[in-house]
Amino acid sequence: MVSKILVRASESDRLQELATQSRVTGRISRRFIAGEALEEATEVARELIATGRTVSLDLVGEKVRDAADADAAAADYLAVIQAMSTGQLTSGISIKPSQLGASDDVDAAHHRLTLLAARAGEAGLHLTLDMEDATTVDHTIELVEALHGDGHTHVGCAVQTALFRTADDIDRLNELGASLRLCKGAYAEAADISHQRREDIDEAYHRCARRLLEAGTYPRFATHDHRLIGAIRRDARELGRATDSYEFQMLYGIRPDVQDRLIEIGEHLCVYVPYGVAWYPYFVRRLAERPANLVFFARALLP
Ligand SMILES: Cc1cc2nc3c(=O)[nH]c(=O)nc-3n(C[C@H](O)[C@H](O)[C@H](O)COP(=O)(O)OP(=O)(O)OC[C@H]3O[C@@H](n4cnc5c(N)ncnc54)[C@H](O)[C@@H]3O)c2cc1C
Repeated sequence: MVSKILVRASESDRLQELATQSRVTGRISRRFIAGEALEEATEVARELIATGRTVSLDLVGEKVRDAADADAAAADYLAVIQAMSTGQLTSGISIKPSQLGASDDVDAAHHRLTLLAARAGEAGLHLTLDMEDATTVDHTIELVEALHGDGHTHVGCAVQTALFRTADDIDRLNELGASLRLCKGAYAEAADISHQRREDIDEAYHRCARRLLEAGTYPRFATHDHRLIGAIRRDARELGRATDSYEFQMLYGIRPDVQDRLIEIGEHLCVYVPYGVAWYPYFVRRLAERPANLVFFARALLP
């Protein structure tokens, strides 16, 4: 219940304005956000890479107001690609389609993504389209298909095991050869299209992960759930998948202990590193995922 309220709060413009103007929330958000400037994010990326991780940089932001904002986001992403290329920061970038205007004009978003995919490809970077709420799944998958059709095979997307449709989407995208990020899903979705119980979402995760290990191109398992990580590692061994044919992904600031352990045992780990001024929705979704974060948040607000 609390989680659903928080996920809805992440969509409130008024709360966003209040939170981003507050120095206290700005400071607290640093637990999950690498900073507001690109230089801060690349510095964090360098530190993570020095510990054996790779990174996927995400310029936080979603649902732009108009084409000019979408163009500005695309230009910012070109700067990210340039900075990663110059700093030899592996291995990719993550983009929300709505940030490039896909919710209003998919063709224009495709056009912006084509340029970004070309530059990312030249820099040797993988490009993942984040998956947003369920209304965006069709056009996100179509964008991946269109970009593959144009030869940008280093483009993939996230898929969410909370949604009933995801097993079919995985089969469709496996056929294309797209490298997919498997996650549980961070949005509050309706009961007629999605699992509501955590156990069901976790079971679906395990089934989808197995499918990706059987037939997927370089699957990216985005989870901090140690039971699922154990199950995936066992399945990978059983199916004869080498550790360099898939990776785990985790969010910046979350379960660094599990991250260290994965590195120690020789698994590949990519850390999703968000940065930028529009951090509010991302931050609130992280609070929603774990009630203990609310206690941490409340404590930090006390004088
Ligand atoms: C790299 C990456 C990319 C993602 N991309 C997307 C995307 O494109 N679209 C999308 O909808 N969702 C995305 N997510 C979010 C994802 O859907 C989940 O909401 C989130 O990862 C929590 O699920 P979990 O698998 O870690 O499992 P959970 O069962 O939620 O958590 C397992 C354990 O991880 C730790 N943990 C998890 N979340 C937190 C947190 N916020 N704070 C502190 N500890 C935590 C806790 O110890 C918890 O017990 C992404 C997640 C990752 C790791």
